[in-house]
Amino acid sequence: MYRTHTCGQLRAADLEETVTLAGWVQKVRNLGAMTFIDLRDRYGVTQLVVDEHAPAALKATADSLGREFVVQATGRVIERSSKNPKLPTGEIEIALNGLKVLSQADTPPFTIEESSDGGDDLRMKYRYLDLRRPPLQRNMMLRHRMAQSARSFLDREGFLEIETPFLIRSTPEGARDFVVPSRMNPNEFYALPQSPQTFKQLLMVAGYDKYFQIVRCFRDEDLRADRQPEFTQIDCEMAFVEQDDVLDTFERMARFMFSETLNVEFPAEPFRRMPYAEAMSRYGNDKPDLRFGMEIGELTAIAKGHGFSIFDEAEYIGAIAAEKCAAFTRKQIDELTEYVKRPQIGAKGLVWIRLEESGEIKSSIDKFYPAETLQKWASELGAQPGDMIFVASGDRRRSLTVLSELRLELGNRLGLRDKTKFAPLWVVDFPLLEWDDETQRFYAMHHPFTSPKPEDIPLLDTDPAKVRANAYDFVVNGVEVGGGSIRIFDSALQARMFDLLGFTPEQARTQFGFLMNAFRFGAPPHGGIAFGFDRFCSLFGGADSIRDYIAFPKNNSGRDVMIDAPGAIDPAQLDELFLRTVQPQ
Ligand code: ASP
Repeated sequence: MYRTHTCGQLRAADLEETVTLAGWVQKVRNLGAMTFIDLRDRYGVTQLVVDEHAPAALKATADSLGREFVVQATGRVIERSSKNPKLPTGEIEIALNGLKVLSQADTPPFTIEESSDGGDDLRMKYRYLDLRRPPLQRNMMLRHRMAQSARSFLDREGFLEIETPFLIRSTPEGARDFVVPSRMNPNEFYALPQSPQTFKQLLMVAGYDKYFQIVRCFRDEDLRADRQPEFTQIDCEMAFVEQDDVLDTFERMARFMFSETLNVEFPAEPFRRMPYAEAMSRYGNDKPDLRFGMEIGELTAIAKGHGFSIFDEAEYIGAIAAEKCAAFTRKQIDELTEYVKRPQIGAKGLVWIRLEESGEIKSSIDKFYPAETLQKWASELGAQPGDMIFVASGDRRRSLTVLSELRLELGNRLGLRDKTKFAPLWVVDFPLLEWDDETQRFYAMHHPFTSPKPEDIPLLDTDPAKVRANAYDFVVNGVEVGGGSIRIFDSALQARMFDLLGFTPEQARTQFGFLMNAFRFGAPPHGGIAFGFDRFCSLFGGADSIRDYIAFPKNNSGRDVMIDAPGAIDPAQLDELFLRTVQPQ
């Protein structure tokens, strides 16, 4: 037996017991007569001591240990003279009478402790060493617990976990596919699934009315921060349901996961539901962070027509009142202005209105608007003396983005985005279609299988952009954690949708014929949702990055620097696949 206990297990109640532990040497302190060793495994750290009465050979072994050696240690649990209240095992130590080196270790390239001195690249290269550190171990355990809680909830609700294939066919809709050449079918390729969407719909046609899968998905997109080319979804689908049934089921799943893994309980009333249009006009984006207020107010009607050309020419004028920020300095205002002027946000400038505690009003547009007018705006926005109003104007969409980003940044600066608080929300009634100016065509906002709201179907002919979908997102703290929709299950409506998306009937048939065919053989009404599991984990963990919740993630260039992938393949392999490579220009 390698061990009787783990390194996180022993307490004062175990005094005088003889135990054997095995683990990694975190630290050795040789104090002359005595040597102390911190022994670590994923359960914790226990202090071992070799005292002055120990045999010389034992003392010599202890003093020969280096960091990260793997050892087996036997001894007696004794009370520690200087207790460490920060460590769960801090009341005891093990007085050794046996110590065996199981495996030696080179000096690790960075410290393997709570916080490490290693840079990002180095830690990615030696990911297995980084994974030994307590923060990453906590993350992996959290991820495991979350997966278990989702599984047990769905199992209890009667969902079946069914696997769907990874080698499927490429479809041009959506993101770019990762493709895999087929040796047995020369010059043909599989694609890795961006999601199991069509398969889960086929499972509904097949009669498996509640399906789920914790499944890897692949998207060959340019990597923005916090995106991974392969990521995990909790993917679910149900038949004979309407939107409310889906929202109800997965709201209960979310509550269960919060409760089981974080002990977070939400009030009994249903999570808030907000139409997309409202989220856009009040928060400037479709995933509002509801941990704090400072909503956007529109001033277009009352601010136009006063001779201030920037406002007069604007399609939209909107503002937020930053609570108790009237004392912001010039420098703070400039910083915020620079923040929203960054190219990703694209503000041209920011107008400010200072509502002094005294009732006096100062602004950057004093020349154009008398204080009484600005007071009217303040009332319109519900702003109080002591607040600072920021106004953005121009194109509606862009201005809303500016105000949204400004609001979030103010939330950060004012400490309003507490990571231990959770504000869940369903955003509903998304538009079905999105117009793209560049390609002059509509794209499906969610995906081509999403059903329009029945009452909006007539608009498909007259004003497709106005059609709302039975589509919903689950948003927590400004993070889109999940999204789904009620699907089209009628092949004629599905064909209509493909037509709107610019598919010829021939293209629709080649790419999605299997689904349209399936719908001809008795398709039940159905709908579902997929949760971004990595993001769900980082949200629960109170972190921004999903990377720390994935055991072996890729870096920002989509590389695994540990195994050095992607890599070139052997010319013989290329031949076998009937492939030739071309150097990029
Ligand atoms: N397959 C969709 C996605 O990956 C989710 C869904 O509609 O269920 O976004």
